Amino acid sequence: MNNKQNKKKKSFAQWYLIFMIVLLLVDFLVIPLISDAKIEQTSYSEFLTYIDNKKIEEVQIEDNEIYFTVKGDDKTYQTGQMYDPDLVNRLDESGAEFSQTIQQETNPFIYFLVSFILPMVLLWALMRSYMKRISNKMGNDQMTFNQGDGFGFGNLSKSNAKVYEGVKTGITFNDVAGQAEAKENLQEVVDFLKNPKKYEEIGAHLPKGVLLVGPPGTGKTLLAKAVAGEAGVPFFSISGSEFVEMFVGRGAAKVRDLFKQAREKAPCIVFIDEIDTIGKKRDGSGLSGNDEREQTLNQLLAEMDGFDGSKGVVLLAATNRDEILDPALTRPGRFDRRIPVELPDLRGRESILKLHAKKVKMSDDIDFNVIARASAGASGAELANIVNESALLAVRDGRKKVLQKDLEEAIEIVIAGEQKKGAVISTHERLIVSYHEIGHALVAAKCKDTAPVHKITIIPRTKGALGYTMQVEEDQQNLLSKDEIYQRIMVYTAGRCAEELIFGSVTSGASNDIEQATKLARMAITRLGMSDQFGMVALETVNNQYLGGDTSLACSTETATKIDEEVIALVKQAHDDAYRILEDNKMKLHELAKYLYEKETITGDQFMYILNKPVEIAAPQE
Ligand code: ADP
Ligand code: MG
Ligand code: ZN
Repeated sequence: MNNKQNKKKKSFAQWYLIFMIVLLLVDFLVIPLISDAKIEQTSYSEFLTYIDNKKIEEVQIEDNEIYFTVKGDDKTYQTGQMYDPDLVNRLDESGAEFSQTIQQETNPFIYFLVSFILPMVLLWALMRSYMKRISNKMGNDQMTFNQGDGFGFGNLSKSNAKVYEGVKTGITFNDVAGQAEAKENLQEVVDFLKNPKKYEEIGAHLPKGVLLVGPPGTGKTLLAKAVAGEAGVPFFSISGSEFVEMFVGRGAAKVRDLFKQAREKAPCIVFIDEIDTIGKKRDGSGLSGNDEREQTLNQLLAEMDGFDGSKGVVLLAATNRDEILDPALTRPGRFDRRIPVELPDLRGRESILKLHAKKVKMSDDIDFNVIARASAGASGAELANIVNESALLAVRDGRKKVLQKDLEEAIEIVIAGEQKKGAVISTHERLIVSYHEIGHALVAAKCKDTAPVHKITIIPRTKGALGYTMQVEEDQQNLLSKDEIYQRIMVYTAGRCAEELIFGSVTSGASNDIEQATKLARMAITRLGMSDQFGMVALETVNNQYLGGDTSLACSTETATKIDEEVIALVKQAHDDAYRILEDNKMKLHELAKYLYEKETITGDQFMYILNKPVEIAAPQE
């Protein structure tokens, strides 16, 4: 870096020299050229000879010089003045005329122009062309000395600087449906960006960094953009995953660059998406491979500490998991405000669906509430996707508007994958799937605390499911009672139960059900205190500190074995209860399975109708 400064000093001296030379040249060459263009120097003795020969036409006597013209010659001559008291008489006798106009003073304006402006212009032009050459050269120069320094790529990050050109997002809170709490929290940031003075006057400090935490697709990126849009400030963003792809040393350089530009454009927003990719806990093992990430993280921390919140740069970051972030990032003065961005609830889902439906031509009689209820657990991104898929379905069907059934089909596409057209499934397999799905639905219908059946289908899906039973919650459910959890486990096991009851054998089709049932049972026992034996003791904790969010048992291995036993017992009991329900309703099971087998897809209403009418049909034959 010394190198560079030397260069600067040298070039300043050089410029001084060049300036002086130009000035001298102008003084000695240009000024005489324009002012004394036709004046010729002569000696005093020659002047006297002209007088003696009476050749002088006009003469002008100044303080120190004498200017004169000669007969038969259009030149003007100049000579020095010598003390000669008789000079005027002699000139008079020689017939010379006295004049005041032979040597005119140079026009002061022109003089100023020539002696001052002209050198400036010349100098400026010279400087520009010189600078251009230097900057062209610099690119190469810097590359070489960066390599010498061993840090490299400094100039690359510079040329990439445009990546973060602050953009006006044009997105506002109106583009974000639901998420009322998050919006409310962020409103303060908007207010601050719009009116930093108000905060400054009172001495209030806004948190430097705001962390948006929530599952993927819940609108974190969207919210960050909306904050910028609401405040009308530029939006600088970079994603953590971009850093990972970088060459050594570039991550830190990018961070530096990003903040430099943001500071110039303040007030503005700097948004770091997926911050967990660079902000993961440092393990301190000192093994390389994380060096790059650590350098980037350190640079980020340094930049955060280096800027003053009142300058109007607000840092936003988003992550799916904040437990794995390095504590250095989340401590006071860094990302110390955490805003949860949760999966939307029933009302949220409905408003997100409606918002995205505005971009699509929809039939007037769409019931978004039904769609919202059928898509429990879906994120904002998935809901947006459902609306889009429904439009694609309508187009495929040659229609100009989206119908209710398109949306319902779209839910399945987004959640379970597209219908697998032409997939060959034997009739026997289809029959098993029919019984399996009716098993789920029947037990669900018989348990009063579970969600009603909305739709059952045995059309295979690309995501692997051979059939699908959709249950739709009546309302948003946040708290599950012990009974509800138990009944859910029953419904999960019921598919397998139906296979056992009817075919006396089991298939691999229930693997997902078993997984879900086990998970639920385990959670009920270890974390919700639903086991009689263990009661209110949390046996499992979400272990953020060291295992990146995995759960780990907080009990002895002895207890762990007991937990396993309890889980097995709970699932077994639920299975047996479900089995009994199916056994008690075997005729209905046959009737409904046959109906589903023929129709492939039936609605919840059709299902309930057949379930509630008297038994009349015998079991279907293969
Ligand atoms: P995240 O950053 O949380 O993963 P995004 O902000 O990238 O989620 O959301 C992806 C897309 O999902 C958005 O562009 C938007 O179309 C849609 N979306 C998500 N949440 C919402 C919401 N609350 N309102 C409207 N659209 C949403
Ligand atoms: Mg995102
Ligand atoms: Zn199943």
